[in-house]
Amino acid sequence: MSVLVVGSIALDTVKTPVEEHSDLIGGSASYAALSASFFSPVRLVGVVGEDFPESEFEFWKERKIDIDGLQRANGKTFRWSGEYSWDLNTRQTRSIALNVFKHFEPVLPKAYRQSDFVLLANIAPSLQAHVLDQMERPRFVVADTMDLWIETTRSDLDALLRRVDLLILNESEAREMTKETSLIKAGRRIRKFGPRYVAIKKGEHGALLFGEGDQFFSCGAYPLEDIHDPTGAGDTFAGGMAGYLAGTVKKVHFNDLRKAMIYGSVLASFCVEAFSLARLRDLTMDEIAKRYETFKLMSQFEIID
Ligand code: AMP
Repeated sequence: MSVLVVGSIALDTVKTPVEEHSDLIGGSASYAALSASFFSPVRLVGVVGEDFPESEFEFWKERKIDIDGLQRANGKTFRWSGEYSWDLNTRQTRSIALNVFKHFEPVLPKAYRQSDFVLLANIAPSLQAHVLDQMERPRFVVADTMDLWIETTRSDLDALLRRVDLLILNESEAREMTKETSLIKAGRRIRKFGPRYVAIKKGEHGALLFGEGDQFFSCGAYPLEDIHDPTGAGDTFAGGMAGYLAGTVKKVHFNDLRKAMIYGSVLASFCVEAFSLARLRDLTMDEIAKRYETFKLMSQFEIID
């Protein structure tokens, strides 16, 4: 089954303490779509400007990423620039230029409207809602968000949450959204805002999953020695989860979400090994399967008395 992915498509400039690269392909939808494409066909919705490299369109087509829903507008592509501190966990946004993103209105081609699985990658909640408005009856809606929308468009976000099955957000966003210091309380509280399931990402410390009643799952992060660029890890995680569910599951149960979360973490661990999408481009299913098995083994405890 296909997964519809909507989000930003960007040209990024990224600075880490040791390297800096500019004009990298980025954006929440670029990472999420490529990550999801390992598990299911993808329908991409977004906007690019005239400066966006043609070669990427060909690459997407090769990867079964349908780009009929991609708009090519006059003007420049959305640009974002960020700088990481030494721990590679904290990041400052240096600049943002909305460019063609400023007047972006997602329009779904007819064939996209019947998609069963949807990933609303990080963009303004009003745009995410506009996509849902055009859909016939999606079976499972995954949404990502960020601190900016919690701070500036909270009522739009609250309205969206009532239409979402799985919300993915990071720990500081979960705390900001609920004003809870405990992530357990925060996860449970966010479910009351609407989403049936909530996934809270904790960066290098893994992720938490909350479901109905006492359904709870915690998974660690893959222990990587070399991280080159953390950009897009969250989008890759969300894309991996949504793609896995769309590609393998008819009706989503909590155990499917647990597996999806491990696949999301595996994909994210590859993403950060190189700048931009470089590692995801040459990644194979074999490598994914191997790391998934290692990850599962690492997550099992053997208790010695
Ligand atoms: P992440 O590292 O998962 O937070 O995602 C980084 C990506 O998000 C970068 O490739 C940026 O182009 C993109 N991005 C940054 N700010 C925004 C924004 N306000 N709306 C949509 N996408 C953004």
